[in-house]
Amino acid sequence: MNVLDPKLSRRTVIAGLVTTGLVLGYVLGEGKTLSMNDIRILSEAKAAGGTVTDPAGTAPDRYTYYPGTEELAKDEIRVIACGTGMPSARHGQAATCFLIETGNGDKFIFDIGTGSMANIAALMIPYQYLDKVFLSHLHTDHMGDIDALWAGGWTSGRPNALRVWGPSGAEESMGTKYAMENFLRFVNWDRTTRNYKITPVPGNIEINEFDYKGENQVIYDENDVVIRSWPAIHAGDGPVSFALEYAGMKVVFGGDTVPNKWFLEYAKDSDVVIHEAMMLPDQYVNLYSQPPQLAWRTCCEFHTSPQSFGKIMSTINPRHAIAYHFFNEEATRYGVYDGIRETYDGPLSMATDMMVWNVTKDDIIERMATATDEAWSVPGTAIQPPPQKGLPNPMSDFIKAGKWREGYEASDRMLDEHAKKYGLEDQDWRKGYWDNQ
Ligand SMILES: [Zn+2]
Ligand SMILES: [Zn+2]
Repeated sequence: MNVLDPKLSRRTVIAGLVTTGLVLGYVLGEGKTLSMNDIRILSEAKAAGGTVTDPAGTAPDRYTYYPGTEELAKDEIRVIACGTGMPSARHGQAATCFLIETGNGDKFIFDIGTGSMANIAALMIPYQYLDKVFLSHLHTDHMGDIDALWAGGWTSGRPNALRVWGPSGAEESMGTKYAMENFLRFVNWDRTTRNYKITPVPGNIEINEFDYKGENQVIYDENDVVIRSWPAIHAGDGPVSFALEYAGMKVVFGGDTVPNKWFLEYAKDSDVVIHEAMMLPDQYVNLYSQPPQLAWRTCCEFHTSPQSFGKIMSTINPRHAIAYHFFNEEATRYGVYDGIRETYDGPLSMATDMMVWNVTKDDIIERMATATDEAWSVPGTAIQPPPQKGLPNPMSDFIKAGKWREGYEASDRMLDEHAKKYGLEDQDWRKGYWDNQ
């Protein structure tokens, strides 16, 4: 078993580990007493994919991706599932979000569904580089955490504005521009106060709305990365699917859609195809509290069933298929998997959050990311500027007059030390600390 086998699935790795366990059990079952010699013999056991040949050595090629520890090769793409679940929030699985990193250093967030920012943040990528978001459509399970990226990055040193690409709709009020402009109205208090206290530029959103009817149209072309869109069919006009092309490779992100002619045509010749595969209707009834009529429509009227997912993949034959948009657990995954296998027998990942794929022309390797639950932001190369002078203070004299001076002054000694440490003694904010508020 070679962990670099492009067709390797997690199932194969697990099977390998089980086999190793059986060998161990057999040797010990002979009635021997375990001695150091036995341990040396057994030390060739596979450790999560790598061979450990020295008891004091390391385990290479472990089935784990440790974020921030591997440089991407120039001709490599890394895909990280930061949300693979459903609109209904769950601790273990966020709603749709895939981060795609290209070997030129660019990073693209495809959908940013509810709860997904905690997973993105756990990768500890500087917010400066997490500035490009592509929305497949405007359901909240595909854009609900835009607020956490927007404000979280702003307070964590991001110096630049966010850039959002998304489709138009049948009318103006159903498009991305309308959604993002009104998002900025929704967060107006947040934005106005942070504009004043931090600095305004990171709170801006560059909105790039494109025609949802465009067929394989180029919506992004910078730095050797091309992103295209084509129409998807899902609940109303507007949704799209995307293809990212880089280094002669193509990764397709389907968003939500039923099987459609555009996908068959434009997702052809792909290296990786990410596409929804919903749970079975019975699973929606028994686990998701949906009435039976909604259950089959959720599965199969405005989404893609496992069987239809398989049919799509066996028709376009990608190098690797990724199924997502189902709660992936014991009660569901076998039904979804068996459904897919009715119509597709090619390379497949059953995605869950923090699954990672490294894609080159030679290999596609699936692993799980191991990330901290207590991530901090990491600085990038650019420094966020200080507050912009001249903005109106959003706090009135009436509120300011309620401040308690002695309470403030309790911090003076500690702040003097901070100012000295960072050379801030002469700056206005230190001198005017009391009045500035
Ligand atoms: Zn949707
Ligand atoms: Zn969805």
